[in-house]
Amino acid sequence: MVELQMSEEVRALLGPEGLARAAEVSLADGRCVACSRPLDGTVHMVVRTNGSFTHVVYVHAGCGPSEVIQMGPDFAPATPADGYDMTMTAAVLDHGGADLPVLVAETVGKAYIVNDGPGELTNVVASHLLGQGFHLVNRLRQAPPQVAEWVGVLLLGHGPAGEDGLLVLDPDGGQFYTGAVDLPDGWLTQAARYGWAVLYVGNAGGLHPRAHDAKATARALRTAAQAGQLVGARIAVGTPGPAQA
Ligand SMILES: [Zn+2]
Repeated sequence: MVELQMSEEVRALLGPEGLARAAEVSLADGRCVACSRPLDGTVHMVVRTNGSFTHVVYVHAGCGPSEVIQMGPDFAPATPADGYDMTMTAAVLDHGGADLPVLVAETVGKAYIVNDGPGELTNVVASHLLGQGFHLVNRLRQAPPQVAEWVGVLLLGHGPAGEDGLLVLDPDGGQFYTGAVDLPDGWLTQAARYGWAVLYVGNAGGLHPRAHDAKATARALRTAAQAGQLVGARIAVGTPGPAQA
């Protein structure tokens, strides 16, 4: 169980919108930036900012205070390829009558670009992806357009404990995501049928990647989409060939 605490100076800097965004963050798989151990117990929010870019990170209460750290002018957003901490949830979700294979990536730590002072915070990952051809998603009626050269590679049964793995590569070969994925029944069949999956990225409010609760996933995505917090695209997915009968 994680309880998040913020100091007054952190609250003041983030403003109401920033606080609402912070409350959506999943800390379930997060790590303390001070000691690198998993977050648990009371967790302090730390904001690093240079006025135009703001990065929100988390530490154990015993590892440091909740504070605002002023950074130099060269403090800048890292691209997702530089390794954001992410969770990946797979689901098969109805889009206007079609059951589509879906991947939902949520960043654990949040980084924001400050557009027009406090209250206008844009998620760095989302804004990076919009620049890469992803679309802002308003509803789940139909799949967003495909982005060229993005590819998801499934590594079935090749994780450290024999679990399934997923690698998502951007057009420059950068690793947008590398880690475990827990595929629900029917996901591979639909991915093989279409040759692509819908990759959604945003603040879906802390999904449970192993719960396989398609209704809860769809609900969280709709909420994120309505809040303007979801981007998406179809990406090519390589799946293993059909099993020999
Ligand atoms: Zn710590």
